[in-house]
Amino acid sequence: MAGDEVLDRLLRESSREPVKLVDVSGVSCPACESKSMSVSEYMYSVPFFGNIVLSVGECSRCGYRYRDVRLAEATEPKKIIVRVEGEEQLRLLVARSPLSSIFIPEVGLEMIPSRASLGFITTVEGLLHRFHEVTSLACKEGGGEVDVEKCRSVLEWLERAIEGYERFTIVICDFDGLSKIVGGREVVEISVIDEECRSREPSL
Ligand SMILES: [Zn+2]
Repeated sequence: MAGDEVLDRLLRESSREPVKLVDVSGVSCPACESKSMSVSEYMYSVPFFGNIVLSVGECSRCGYRYRDVRLAEATEPKKIIVRVEGEEQLRLLVARSPLSSIFIPEVGLEMIPSRASLGFITTVEGLLHRFHEVTSLACKEGGGEVDVEKCRSVLEWLERAIEGYERFTIVICDFDGLSKIVGGREVVEISVIDEECRSREPSL
């Protein structure tokens, strides 16, 4: 599951027609660098997250496309912590802004944004799938640098976690206040960016 299904479902359940905010063409394409990209932004009002902005870019020259999503209203920067005990928490919804870092301390996995990072909405399970995708890619492309044993054990851990057999913590360092996890008592929000987060701040 790529996680896009979650966003598509929320968009279908939007409580009113999307409002077009931006519509520009002649934008520089990050893939082929020609000025053939058109970018549109829409405001949706969706369940759980309220107003969100969906940005869609499409290049008429090379066909590159992207979807970026973020909450429309920022809160203060914060650290969000979720304790995952099993399947129930795997279904929690996560909105991750393009500037937020995510890490899983128990296995040393982290996602630190780059300039090309996109925001997304998914579930905790979808997030694990993303980590799995990125880790398999890094393990494949790393060549001689890769610790095969370590790769295998991290991927196996992720597969068990996706099935609900691992207990772990997800920490989001929400530097721009535009990330959110929808959930009950298992979600703790600390409205201060501490050292642990500061060391994971993207350098853009
Ligand atoms: Zn292009």
